[in-house]
Amino acid sequence: MVTTFINDNAGYLHWVENNPDGFVLNCHNPPTASCLVLHSARCHTITGTPARGLYWTINYMKVCAPKKRGIELVNWIIENVGNVPYDNCRICNPVI
Ligand SMILES: [Zn+2]
Repeated sequence: MVTTFINDNAGYLHWVENNPDGFVLNCHNPPTASCLVLHSARCHTITGTPARGLYWTINYMKVCAPKKRGIELVNWIIENVGNVPYDNCRICNPVI
């Protein structure tokens, strides 16, 4: 149930609109251990108009999961990056 968005701004924004209680993991494309930030789908820092550039999913990729599947994002990190810590966004303070 984890959905990954790469080069798909419209698809990503559609997902967060339809899953406001979900989680979004923001990471580099490809993902690196140095940049793994978990957000609530409602977080204004990852929706609307990007602060830098026009697109959400080019330099960064978004890995999304519905609220009940939040733990799958942790599994995704383990499978794709390794057993490394991720950061919780200090603005939206998500809790898996
Ligand atoms: Zn956030």
